[in-house]
Amino acid sequence: MMLSESIWTDIALPAFPTLEQDKDCDVLIIGGGMCGLLCAHYLKEAGADCIVCEAGRIANQTTIRTTASLSMGQDTLYSDIARSPSHGIGDAGLYMRANRAALDEYKKLCTSIDCDFEERDLLFEIPDTKKFKRECKTLLEIGADVSPIAGRQILRYPKQAQFHPMKLLAGIVPGLTIYENTRILHIDGTTATTGKHRIHAKKIIVATHFPLQKWKGLFFLKLYQKRAYVLALEGISDPGYHYYNVDTDGVSIRMQGRFLLLCGGDHRTGKEGGGFDRLMDYRADHFPRSIVYRSWATQDTQSLDGLPYIGQITRSDSDNFVAAGFGGWGMTGSMHAALILRELVQGRSHELAALFDPSRSMLTGQLALNAGETLLTFLNPIPRRCTHMGCALRWNPRECSWDCACHGSRFDKAGGILNNPAQHGFKM
Ligand SMILES: Cc1cc2nc3c(=O)[nH]c(=O)nc-3n(C[C@H](O)[C@H](O)[C@H](O)COP(=O)(O)OP(=O)(O)OC[C@H]3O[C@@H](n4cnc5c(N)ncnc54)[C@H](O)[C@@H]3O)c2cc1C
Repeated sequence: MMLSESIWTDIALPAFPTLEQDKDCDVLIIGGGMCGLLCAHYLKEAGADCIVCEAGRIANQTTIRTTASLSMGQDTLYSDIARSPSHGIGDAGLYMRANRAALDEYKKLCTSIDCDFEERDLLFEIPDTKKFKRECKTLLEIGADVSPIAGRQILRYPKQAQFHPMKLLAGIVPGLTIYENTRILHIDGTTATTGKHRIHAKKIIVATHFPLQKWKGLFFLKLYQKRAYVLALEGISDPGYHYYNVDTDGVSIRMQGRFLLLCGGDHRTGKEGGGFDRLMDYRADHFPRSIVYRSWATQDTQSLDGLPYIGQITRSDSDNFVAAGFGGWGMTGSMHAALILRELVQGRSHELAALFDPSRSMLTGQLALNAGETLLTFLNPIPRRCTHMGCALRWNPRECSWDCACHGSRFDKAGGILNNPAQHGFKM
């Protein structure tokens, strides 16, 4: 399977200058993906003087490779949160309401921006009977607007949505102060440096997908990355709804114009997994007459408990904020981040701040798995090492890249950087 660009490259975003001098601002936002740009948009609306610094071109990493559906159905997260010793049923209800609010906010934003926004029902299949019953029970308890389809292990979520991410961003970036090709290398207090120039800010938001701080906040233990794959198929009639199948490497389906986007095949970056083979098998079974127009892959950061980390980087640092760990739900996650951080950076509270607090209790099985993975790859004698924390890199023949299973950094065959948290490449 040949990798190609995503279908979202049909819209070119405007270009922005590189930072050529020192600057002062109220809020510096590091990272110009969906998350950083939505944060900048809402903060600017609130009257803050914001600067966005982006290492490459804006929205050119995960965001340009998303499938951009807005969905409240997210794996079996509601029952997982309800059963978690550090959350409970109250948090499951809170998360449900937060997702509804994020969808409603997108709808409001998209009324003034022509970005193919469209509401669609989501059919959400949970093949495992025990998990299905558990999720139904939780959804009932939290009063979710969702109905089971008779005789099937499928839930119908009404009025979910989809949009064209580049068209949405094309509508908001013209009013923002953005510097492209401006990689922040270091943060000291609220001063960030590129190596050549400094930005002095009152507050900093790090929206770099995987926070660039190596030690502060312990994200090297709290985050890992999963890769997922997308096929844009032609020649299929529009089913009229979104579909999501919760399976270990389940698939999601949604239409965008004449294309059906089939997404799935997830696996931890740097490990084996379903990949395009899983999608091609699914296509052969369900859409045998379709034509593959494009195929691409990208990855998202995964938190320990399935909820994103949005808020102060540590409890004692009230000037530095992060947003990360969207777990494949980063369109709604970016909206949560924008709405919460707009309040927090202005010194106000937000009802969701505790739920997404990056310093919340993290004693989960995934923490032990992440620590074990880091230790194993760290001790592996393979000479090719990641420039982030020195873990062993593994050659990925499918995508011709060097991948790190610890934290998900990736490098091309010449050692150039493809994905963070590594911030620089290596020499072959
Ligand atoms: C295959 C796939 C499909 C998905 N589909 C959906 C979906 O349908 N719905 C949904 O809700 N979510 C979906 N997601 C998740 C969603 O796409 C992501 O969570 C979201 O795009 C992340 O946005 P971001 O801004 O955090 O990251 P990014 O888009 O990666 O942006 C981070 C930016 O930070 C920049 N950066 C990094 N380091 C520095 C530095 N030192 N200085 C300056 N800039 C820096 C990078 O260059 C990058 O542009 C999907 C994920 C995958 C993998």
